[in-house]
Amino acid sequence: MGCTALVLAVTGTAPAQAGQRAGAERQVLPAGDGWAAYGAGTTGGAAADRSHVYTVTTWEQFKAALADGGSAPKIIRVRGTIDADGPSCDSFAVPGYDFGAYLAKYAPESWGRATTLDGEPADSPEGLRRASAANQDAYIKAEVPANTTVIGVGKDAGFNGASLQIKGVDNVIVRNLRFESPLDCFPQWDPTDTADGNWNSEYDSAVVYGSAHVWMDHDTFTDGDHPDSTLPYYFGRIYEQHDGELDIVKGADYVTASWNVFEDHDKTILVGNSDSAATAAVDRGHLKVTFHHNLFRNLVERAPRVRFGQVDSYDNHFVAGDGYSYSYGIGMESQLVAEHNAFTLPAGAKAGSILKKWKEAPVTAADNYVNGRHTDLIAVHNAEVPGETLQSGAGWTPALRTRVDPARAVPGLVGHRAGAGRVG
Ligand code: CA
Ligand code: CA
Repeated sequence: MGCTALVLAVTGTAPAQAGQRAGAERQVLPAGDGWAAYGAGTTGGAAADRSHVYTVTTWEQFKAALADGGSAPKIIRVRGTIDADGPSCDSFAVPGYDFGAYLAKYAPESWGRATTLDGEPADSPEGLRRASAANQDAYIKAEVPANTTVIGVGKDAGFNGASLQIKGVDNVIVRNLRFESPLDCFPQWDPTDTADGNWNSEYDSAVVYGSAHVWMDHDTFTDGDHPDSTLPYYFGRIYEQHDGELDIVKGADYVTASWNVFEDHDKTILVGNSDSAATAAVDRGHLKVTFHHNLFRNLVERAPRVRFGQVDSYDNHFVAGDGYSYSYGIGMESQLVAEHNAFTLPAGAKAGSILKKWKEAPVTAADNYVNGRHTDLIAVHNAEVPGETLQSGAGWTPALRTRVDPARAVPGLVGHRAGAGRVG
Protein backbone atom coordinates (compact mmCIF):
# COMPACT_ATOMS: atom_id res chain seq x y z
CA MET A 1 0.00 0.00 0.00
CA GLY A 2 2.48 2.63 1.16
CA CYS A 3 -0.13 5.33 1.43
CA THR A 4 0.89 6.42 4.88
CA ALA A 5 -0.06 10.00 4.27
CA LEU A 6 -3.73 9.13 4.01
CA VAL A 7 -5.47 10.26 7.11
CA LEU A 8 -8.82 9.19 8.25
CA ALA A 9 -11.73 10.22 9.95
CA VAL A 10 -12.15 13.64 10.57
CA THR A 11 -14.73 15.94 10.71
CA GLY A 12 -16.62 18.84 9.44
CA THR A 13 -13.70 21.10 10.07
CA ALA A 14 -12.03 19.89 6.90
CA PRO A 15 -12.66 22.34 4.07
CA ALA A 16 -14.50 21.13 1.00
CA GLN A 17 -12.05 19.58 -1.43
CA ALA A 18 -11.50 20.76 -4.94
CA GLY A 19 -14.37 19.45 -7.00
CA GLN A 20 -16.70 19.11 -4.02
CA ARG A 21 -19.45 21.59 -4.53
CA ALA A 22 -19.99 23.43 -1.29
CA GLY A 23 -22.79 21.83 0.64
CA ALA A 24 -23.33 18.78 -1.58
CA GLU A 25 -22.83 16.54 1.40
CA ARG A 26 -25.68 18.26 3.24
CA GLN A 27 -28.13 18.37 0.35
CA VAL A 28 -31.48 16.72 0.93
CA LEU A 29 -33.89 15.25 -1.58
CA PRO A 30 -35.86 18.15 -3.07
CA ALA A 31 -39.54 18.33 -2.15
CA GLY A 32 -41.68 16.35 -4.55
CA ASP A 33 -38.75 14.52 -6.15
CA GLY A 34 -40.10 11.03 -6.54
CA TRP A 35 -41.41 8.51 -4.08
CA ALA A 36 -38.58 9.15 -1.56
CA ALA A 37 -40.09 12.62 -1.08
CA TYR A 38 -43.32 11.10 0.24
CA GLY A 39 -44.25 11.96 3.83
CA ALA A 40 -41.30 13.23 5.82
CA GLY A 41 -39.04 13.10 2.75
CA THR A 42 -35.40 12.05 2.69
CA THR A 43 -32.71 14.07 4.43
CA GLY A 44 -30.05 11.42 5.11
CA GLY A 45 -27.34 12.78 7.37
CA ALA A 46 -27.89 16.45 6.51
CA ALA A 47 -28.32 17.34 10.17
CA ALA A 48 -25.05 15.70 11.27
CA ASP A 49 -23.05 17.55 13.89
CA ARG A 50 -19.31 17.93 13.40
CA SER A 51 -18.42 14.81 15.32
CA HIS A 52 -20.49 12.74 12.86
CA VAL A 53 -18.86 13.82 9.61
CA TYR A 54 -16.27 11.31 8.46
CA THR A 55 -13.87 11.15 5.54
CA VAL A 56 -12.74 7.63 4.63
CA THR A 57 -10.23 6.14 2.24
CA THR A 58 -10.32 2.43 3.18
CA TRP A 59 -12.97 -0.23 3.63
CA GLU A 60 -12.06 -0.60 7.30
CA GLN A 61 -12.51 3.13 7.87
CA PHE A 62 -15.82 3.10 6.02
CA LYS A 63 -17.20 0.23 8.11
CA ALA A 64 -15.96 1.88 11.30
CA ALA A 65 -17.70 5.14 10.37
CA LEU A 66 -20.94 3.29 9.61
CA ALA A 67 -20.81 1.61 13.03
CA ASP A 68 -20.05 4.80 14.96
CA GLY A 69 -22.76 6.84 16.62
CA GLY A 70 -25.82 4.64 16.16
CA SER A 71 -28.60 6.38 14.28
CA ALA A 72 -27.38 9.91 14.96
CA PRO A 73 -27.34 11.79 11.64
CA LYS A 74 -24.01 11.20 9.92
CA ILE A 75 -22.21 12.09 6.73
CA ILE A 76 -19.58 9.75 5.35
CA ARG A 77 -17.39 11.24 2.64
CA VAL A 78 -15.66 8.64 0.49
CA ARG A 79 -12.39 9.71 -1.09
CA GLY A 80 -10.95 7.73 -3.99
CA THR A 81 -11.83 4.20 -4.99
CA ILE A 82 -11.98 1.82 -2.06
CA ASP A 83 -11.29 -1.89 -2.48
CA ALA A 84 -13.98 -3.77 -0.57
CA ASP A 85 -13.20 -7.21 -1.94
CA GLY A 86 -10.28 -8.23 0.24
CA PRO A 87 -6.82 -9.29 -0.85
CA SER A 88 -8.11 -12.26 -2.88
CA CYS A 89 -10.78 -14.94 -3.03
CA ASP A 90 -8.29 -17.33 -1.46
CA SER A 91 -8.22 -15.12 1.62
CA PHE A 92 -11.85 -16.06 2.33
CA ALA A 93 -11.49 -19.81 1.75
CA VAL A 94 -11.58 -22.04 4.83
CA PRO A 95 -8.94 -24.76 5.30
CA GLY A 96 -9.73 -27.73 3.10
CA TYR A 97 -11.84 -25.87 0.54
CA ASP A 98 -10.79 -27.03 -2.92
CA PHE A 99 -12.68 -25.95 -6.03
CA GLY A 100 -11.30 -28.89 -7.98
CA ALA A 101 -12.79 -31.28 -5.44
CA TYR A 102 -16.09 -29.38 -5.68
CA LEU A 103 -16.20 -29.80 -9.45
CA ALA A 104 -15.27 -33.47 -9.18
CA LYS A 105 -17.95 -34.33 -6.65
CA TYR A 106 -20.89 -32.40 -8.14
CA ALA A 107 -20.31 -32.96 -11.87
CA PRO A 108 -23.65 -33.89 -13.46
CA GLU A 109 -22.12 -37.19 -14.63
CA SER A 110 -21.54 -38.23 -11.04
CA TRP A 111 -24.01 -36.26 -8.88
CA GLY A 112 -26.84 -36.11 -11.39
CA ARG A 113 -29.40 -33.33 -11.77
CA ALA A 114 -32.14 -34.32 -9.37
CA THR A 115 -30.80 -33.21 -6.00
CA THR A 116 -29.68 -29.83 -4.69
CA LEU A 117 -26.55 -29.57 -2.56
CA ASP A 118 -28.40 -28.10 0.40
CA GLY A 119 -28.24 -31.26 2.46
CA GLU A 120 -24.48 -31.65 2.12
CA PRO A 121 -22.60 -31.82 5.46
CA ALA A 122 -20.11 -29.26 6.75
CA ASP A 123 -17.06 -31.33 5.78
CA SER A 124 -18.22 -31.87 2.19
CA PRO A 125 -16.99 -29.68 -0.68
CA GLU A 126 -20.35 -27.85 -0.51
CA GLY A 127 -20.07 -27.42 3.25
CA LEU A 128 -16.60 -25.96 2.88
CA ARG A 129 -17.91 -23.69 0.10
CA ARG A 130 -20.68 -22.46 2.42
CA ALA A 131 -18.20 -21.68 5.18
CA SER A 132 -15.90 -19.86 2.76
CA ALA A 133 -18.85 -17.89 1.36
CA ALA A 134 -19.79 -16.83 4.89
CA ASN A 135 -16.33 -15.28 5.31
CA GLN A 136 -16.70 -13.28 2.12
CA ASP A 137 -20.25 -12.28 3.07
CA ALA A 138 -19.12 -10.83 6.39
CA TYR A 139 -16.30 -8.92 4.74
CA ILE A 140 -17.87 -7.29 1.71
CA LYS A 141 -21.26 -6.37 3.17
CA ALA A 142 -21.59 -3.02 4.92
CA GLU A 143 -24.76 -2.07 6.78
CA VAL A 144 -25.85 1.54 6.47
CA PRO A 145 -27.64 2.93 9.53
CA ALA A 146 -30.61 5.30 9.55
CA ASN A 147 -30.12 9.02 8.95
CA THR A 148 -26.97 8.63 6.88
CA THR A 149 -25.54 10.31 3.78
CA VAL A 150 -22.75 8.48 1.98
CA ILE A 151 -21.22 10.72 -0.69
CA GLY A 152 -18.21 10.44 -2.95
CA VAL A 153 -15.74 13.31 -2.99
CA GLY A 154 -14.74 14.51 -6.44
CA LYS A 155 -14.68 12.53 -9.65
CA ASP A 156 -13.22 9.15 -8.77
CA ALA A 157 -14.89 8.02 -5.55
CA GLY A 158 -16.42 4.59 -5.21
CA PHE A 159 -16.10 0.98 -4.21
CA ASN A 160 -14.79 -2.12 -5.92
CA GLY A 161 -16.65 -5.21 -4.84
CA ALA A 162 -18.75 -3.73 -2.06
CA SER A 163 -22.27 -4.81 -1.16
CA LEU A 164 -24.07 -1.94 0.53
CA GLN A 165 -26.88 -3.13 2.80
CA ILE A 166 -29.60 -0.57 3.43
CA LYS A 167 -31.60 -2.87 5.62
CA GLY A 168 -34.46 -2.13 8.00
CA VAL A 169 -33.67 1.57 8.33
CA ASP A 170 -35.19 4.92 7.37
CA ASN A 171 -33.68 7.96 5.67
CA VAL A 172 -30.54 7.20 3.66
CA ILE A 173 -28.84 9.11 0.83
CA VAL A 174 -26.13 7.58 -1.40
CA ARG A 175 -24.59 9.93 -3.98
CA ASN A 176 -21.70 10.38 -6.36
CA LEU A 177 -20.25 6.90 -6.00
CA ARG A 178 -19.13 4.36 -8.57
CA PHE A 179 -19.91 0.78 -7.64
CA GLU A 180 -17.99 -1.91 -9.47
CA SER A 181 -20.01 -5.10 -8.97
CA PRO A 182 -18.88 -7.59 -6.35
CA LEU A 183 -17.70 -10.96 -7.63
CA ASP A 184 -18.99 -13.88 -5.61
CA CYS A 185 -15.88 -16.00 -4.96
CA PHE A 186 -17.97 -19.07 -4.18
CA PRO A 187 -21.04 -19.45 -6.43
CA GLN A 188 -23.23 -22.42 -5.58
CA TRP A 189 -24.07 -25.09 -8.13
CA ASP A 190 -27.78 -25.88 -8.25
CA PRO A 191 -28.36 -28.93 -10.46
CA THR A 192 -32.14 -28.42 -10.25
CA ASP A 193 -32.25 -24.78 -11.43
CA THR A 194 -33.46 -25.17 -15.02
CA ALA A 195 -32.96 -28.42 -16.93
CA ASP A 196 -29.24 -27.66 -17.30
CA GLY A 197 -28.48 -26.49 -13.75
CA ASN A 198 -27.12 -23.06 -12.79
CA TRP A 199 -24.35 -21.40 -10.85
CA ASN A 200 -26.03 -18.96 -8.44
CA SER A 201 -24.29 -16.06 -6.79
CA GLU A 202 -24.91 -13.51 -4.06
CA TYR A 203 -24.10 -9.84 -3.42
CA ASP A 204 -25.89 -6.92 -5.01
CA SER A 205 -23.85 -3.73 -5.22
CA ALA A 206 -26.60 -2.14 -3.13
CA VAL A 207 -29.75 -3.56 -1.67
CA VAL A 208 -32.65 -1.70 -0.10
CA TYR A 209 -34.23 -4.30 2.14
CA GLY A 210 -37.28 -3.36 4.20
CA SER A 211 -36.11 0.27 4.38
CA ALA A 212 -37.97 3.51 3.64
CA HIS A 213 -36.92 6.92 2.32
CA VAL A 214 -33.82 6.16 0.30
CA TRP A 215 -32.34 8.45 -2.37
CA MET A 216 -29.78 6.95 -4.75
CA ASP A 217 -28.47 9.82 -6.85
CA HIS A 218 -25.65 10.30 -9.34
CA ASP A 219 -24.19 6.86 -8.74
CA THR A 220 -22.68 4.53 -11.34
CA PHE A 221 -23.22 0.78 -11.20
CA THR A 222 -21.12 -1.36 -13.52
CA ASP A 223 -19.40 -4.70 -13.92
CA GLY A 224 -16.37 -2.64 -14.88
CA ASP A 225 -13.30 -4.76 -15.49
CA HIS A 226 -15.19 -8.01 -14.85
CA PRO A 227 -18.04 -8.32 -17.34
CA ASP A 228 -19.86 -11.62 -17.68
CA SER A 229 -18.00 -12.16 -20.97
CA THR A 230 -14.82 -12.76 -18.94
CA LEU A 231 -16.36 -15.43 -16.70
CA PRO A 232 -15.59 -19.13 -17.24
CA TYR A 233 -18.01 -22.01 -17.82
CA TYR A 234 -18.24 -25.17 -15.74
CA PHE A 235 -20.65 -28.04 -16.37
CA GLY A 236 -21.58 -26.22 -19.57
CA ARG A 237 -23.01 -23.26 -17.64
CA ILE A 238 -21.60 -19.79 -17.07
CA TYR A 239 -19.86 -19.56 -13.71
CA GLU A 240 -22.03 -16.57 -12.75
CA GLN A 241 -20.37 -14.43 -10.09
CA HIS A 242 -22.67 -11.40 -10.23
CA ASP A 243 -26.01 -10.71 -8.61
CA GLY A 244 -27.95 -7.44 -8.98
CA GLU A 245 -26.77 -3.83 -9.22
CA LEU A 246 -29.55 -2.40 -7.05
CA ASP A 247 -32.28 -4.57 -5.56
CA ILE A 248 -35.26 -3.11 -3.69
CA VAL A 249 -37.00 -5.84 -1.73
CA LYS A 250 -38.89 -7.07 1.33
CA GLY A 251 -41.39 -4.27 1.80
CA ALA A 252 -38.95 -1.47 1.02
CA ASP A 253 -40.72 1.79 0.29
CA TYR A 254 -40.29 5.36 -0.89
CA VAL A 255 -37.15 5.14 -2.98
CA THR A 256 -35.97 7.64 -5.60
CA ALA A 257 -33.19 6.63 -8.00
CA SER A 258 -32.19 9.69 -10.04
CA TRP A 259 -29.36 10.54 -12.43
CA ASN A 260 -27.59 7.19 -12.03
CA VAL A 261 -25.81 5.11 -14.64
CA PHE A 262 -26.59 1.40 -14.63
CA GLU A 263 -24.35 -0.28 -17.19
CA ASP A 264 -22.59 -3.42 -18.41
CA HIS A 265 -24.54 -5.97 -16.42
CA ASP A 266 -27.03 -8.80 -16.84
CA LYS A 267 -29.75 -8.90 -14.16
CA THR A 268 -29.77 -5.28 -13.06
CA ILE A 269 -32.60 -4.20 -10.72
CA LEU A 270 -35.27 -6.14 -8.89
CA VAL A 271 -38.17 -4.32 -7.29
CA GLY A 272 -39.56 -7.25 -5.31
CA ASN A 273 -37.75 -10.55 -5.46
CA SER A 274 -40.39 -13.26 -5.16
CA ASP A 275 -43.98 -14.17 -5.99
CA SER A 276 -44.31 -16.31 -2.88
CA ALA A 277 -47.21 -15.81 -0.50
CA ALA A 278 -44.87 -14.86 2.35
CA THR A 279 -43.19 -12.22 0.20
CA ALA A 280 -46.52 -10.94 -1.10
CA ALA A 281 -47.67 -10.34 2.47
CA VAL A 282 -44.63 -8.14 3.08
CA ASP A 283 -44.45 -6.39 -0.31
CA ARG A 284 -48.10 -5.73 -1.15
CA GLY A 285 -48.83 -2.00 -0.79
CA HIS A 286 -45.12 -1.13 -0.65
CA LEU A 287 -42.21 -1.09 -3.12
CA LYS A 288 -43.00 2.45 -4.27
CA VAL A 289 -40.01 3.56 -6.34
CA THR A 290 -39.25 6.37 -8.79
CA PHE A 291 -36.57 6.13 -11.48
CA HIS A 292 -35.85 9.32 -13.38
CA HIS A 293 -32.99 10.63 -15.50
CA ASN A 294 -31.04 7.40 -15.30
CA LEU A 295 -28.94 5.93 -18.08
CA PHE A 296 -29.47 2.18 -18.52
CA ARG A 297 -26.69 1.11 -20.87
CA ASN A 298 -25.67 -2.30 -22.18
CA LEU A 299 -27.82 -4.35 -19.81
CA VAL A 300 -29.43 -7.69 -20.50
CA GLU A 301 -32.55 -7.46 -18.37
CA ARG A 302 -34.40 -6.03 -15.33
CA ALA A 303 -34.26 -2.26 -15.61
CA PRO A 304 -36.17 -2.93 -13.44
CA ARG A 305 -38.20 -6.12 -13.06
CA VAL A 306 -41.16 -5.13 -10.88
CA ARG A 307 -43.41 -7.07 -8.54
CA PHE A 308 -46.19 -5.53 -6.42
CA GLY A 309 -44.87 -1.97 -6.42
CA GLN A 310 -46.05 1.28 -7.90
CA VAL A 311 -42.98 2.18 -9.92
CA ASP A 312 -42.72 5.48 -11.79
CA SER A 313 -40.06 5.44 -14.51
CA TYR A 314 -39.77 8.65 -16.51
CA ASP A 315 -37.11 10.57 -18.40
CA ASN A 316 -34.67 7.66 -18.54
CA HIS A 317 -32.47 6.68 -21.47
CA PHE A 318 -32.10 3.00 -22.28
CA VAL A 319 -29.26 2.04 -24.61
CA ALA A 320 -29.32 -1.62 -25.57
CA GLY A 321 -26.30 -3.60 -26.68
CA ASP A 322 -25.47 -7.16 -27.65
CA GLY A 323 -27.42 -9.74 -25.74
CA TYR A 324 -30.27 -7.38 -24.89
CA SER A 325 -33.28 -9.23 -23.53
CA TYR A 326 -35.75 -6.68 -22.11
CA SER A 327 -35.93 -3.48 -20.07
CA TYR A 328 -39.09 -3.53 -17.96
CA GLY A 329 -40.25 -6.79 -16.40
CA ILE A 330 -43.96 -6.74 -15.64
CA GLY A 331 -44.33 -9.02 -12.63
CA MET A 332 -46.90 -10.02 -10.10
CA GLU A 333 -49.33 -7.26 -9.06
CA SER A 334 -47.02 -4.56 -10.42
CA GLN A 335 -48.32 -1.14 -11.49
CA LEU A 336 -45.57 0.32 -13.65
CA VAL A 337 -45.83 3.77 -15.16
CA ALA A 338 -43.26 4.32 -17.94
CA GLU A 339 -43.44 7.73 -19.56
CA HIS A 340 -41.21 10.19 -21.43
CA ASN A 341 -38.36 7.68 -21.81
CA ALA A 342 -35.96 7.30 -24.72
CA PHE A 343 -34.74 3.94 -26.03
CA THR A 344 -31.81 3.41 -28.35
CA LEU A 345 -31.91 -0.08 -29.80
CA PRO A 346 -29.37 -1.67 -32.14
CA ALA A 347 -30.38 -2.96 -35.54
CA GLY A 348 -32.22 -6.23 -35.09
CA ALA A 349 -33.53 -5.53 -31.59
CA LYS A 350 -37.30 -5.30 -31.43
CA ALA A 351 -39.19 -2.50 -29.68
CA GLY A 352 -41.68 -5.17 -28.59
CA SER A 353 -39.06 -6.60 -26.24
CA ILE A 354 -38.76 -3.42 -24.16
CA LEU A 355 -41.64 -4.70 -22.03
CA LYS A 356 -41.57 -8.30 -20.82
CA LYS A 357 -44.72 -9.76 -19.36
CA TRP A 358 -44.14 -12.20 -16.51
CA LYS A 359 -47.56 -11.93 -14.91
CA GLU A 360 -50.91 -10.36 -15.69
CA ALA A 361 -50.46 -6.79 -14.48
CA PRO A 362 -51.45 -3.44 -15.96
CA VAL A 363 -49.01 -0.89 -17.32
CA THR A 364 -49.13 2.77 -18.23
CA ALA A 365 -46.80 3.64 -21.11
CA ALA A 366 -46.98 7.02 -22.83
CA ASP A 367 -44.78 9.45 -24.71
CA ASN A 368 -41.88 7.03 -25.14
CA TYR A 369 -39.47 7.23 -28.07
CA VAL A 370 -37.56 4.37 -29.68
CA ASN A 371 -34.67 5.38 -31.89
CA GLY A 372 -36.17 8.84 -32.10
CA ARG A 373 -39.68 7.73 -33.05
CA HIS A 374 -42.72 8.03 -30.86
CA THR A 375 -43.67 4.46 -29.97
CA ASP A 376 -46.59 2.91 -28.12
CA LEU A 377 -44.65 0.33 -26.12
CA ILE A 378 -47.73 -1.70 -25.20
CA ALA A 379 -49.12 -1.80 -28.73
CA VAL A 380 -45.79 -2.80 -30.27
CA HIS A 381 -45.26 -5.44 -27.59
CA ASN A 382 -48.71 -6.93 -28.16
CA ALA A 383 -48.16 -6.92 -31.92
CA GLU A 384 -44.71 -8.50 -31.81
CA VAL A 385 -45.11 -11.00 -28.97
CA PRO A 386 -48.04 -13.30 -29.67
CA GLY A 387 -49.74 -14.72 -26.61
CA GLU A 388 -48.36 -12.07 -24.24
CA THR A 389 -51.01 -9.36 -24.19
CA LEU A 390 -50.39 -6.47 -21.82
CA GLN A 391 -53.25 -4.35 -20.52
CA SER A 392 -52.95 -0.58 -20.57
CA GLY A 393 -53.61 1.58 -17.51
CA ALA A 394 -51.61 1.08 -14.30
CA GLY A 395 -54.43 2.46 -12.17
CA TRP A 396 -52.56 5.33 -10.56
CA THR A 397 -51.04 8.64 -11.59
CA PRO A 398 -47.63 9.68 -10.28
CA ALA A 399 -47.78 12.96 -8.41
CA LEU A 400 -44.21 13.16 -7.11
CA ARG A 401 -42.26 14.56 -10.04
CA THR A 402 -40.35 17.82 -10.00
CA ARG A 403 -39.60 18.41 -13.65
CA VAL A 404 -40.47 16.37 -16.69
CA ASP A 405 -38.21 16.84 -19.70
CA PRO A 406 -39.35 15.98 -23.20
CA ALA A 407 -38.35 12.41 -24.02
CA ARG A 408 -36.36 13.56 -27.04
CA ALA A 409 -34.15 15.77 -24.83
CA VAL A 410 -33.42 12.93 -22.40
CA PRO A 411 -30.46 11.23 -24.16
CA GLY A 412 -28.55 14.51 -24.23
CA LEU A 413 -29.41 15.50 -20.67
CA VAL A 414 -28.69 12.11 -19.16
CA GLY A 415 -25.58 11.59 -21.26
CA HIS A 416 -24.04 14.78 -19.94
CA ARG A 417 -25.19 14.71 -16.36
CA ALA A 418 -25.94 11.19 -15.07
CA GLY A 419 -23.55 9.04 -13.08
CA ALA A 420 -20.87 9.42 -10.44
CA GLY A 421 -18.28 12.18 -10.50
CA ARG A 422 -20.72 14.99 -11.22
CA VAL A 423 -21.97 16.30 -7.90
CA GLY A 424 -19.53 15.57 -5.12
CA1 CA B 1 -8.99 -6.17 -4.19
CA1 CA C 1 -30.14 -9.79 -5.43
